[in-house]
Amino acid sequence: MAYDSDNIFAKILRGEIPCKAVYEDSYALAFHDIAPAAPVHVLVIPKGAFTSFADFMARAAADEVQGFFAAVAKVAAQENGTADFRLISNNGAEAGQTVPHFHVHILAGKPMGHLLAD
Ligand code: 5GP
Repeated sequence: MAYDSDNIFAKILRGEIPCKAVYEDSYALAFHDIAPAAPVHVLVIPKGAFTSFADFMARAAADEVQGFFAAVAKVAAQENGTADFRLISNNGAEAGQTVPHFHVHILAGKPMGHLLAD
């Protein structure tokens, strides 16, 4: 799938749409999900134009991969201390991906079921 530069997270990266940012560095931006599914629900997105996790791992440079996942770890610690958390990345429509810019959900702050809800 070609990258759509009009997707909502591309617009957030360009500052065209506001977000409640909690962290930013040269590799990643993290912000509160607009429809939180848990008390802590933060999205972490890479600065580069990647449609999905698979696209990111296929095309991103090593420093982009390292920098992005280091940011995920920092944000998880920043937002939830040493408590437990869940990472989700929906890869493709069947997996539930609705925004075609790679993102990781960080969810925490309540007991969660094991894997899929339904
Ligand atoms: P996906 O379904 O692709 O895994 O996750 C997309 C997430 O983006 C959803 O949890 C949805 O609530 C969130 N989202 C969609 N539009 C916006 C927006 O404009 N701002 C923010 N902060 N989150 C959004």
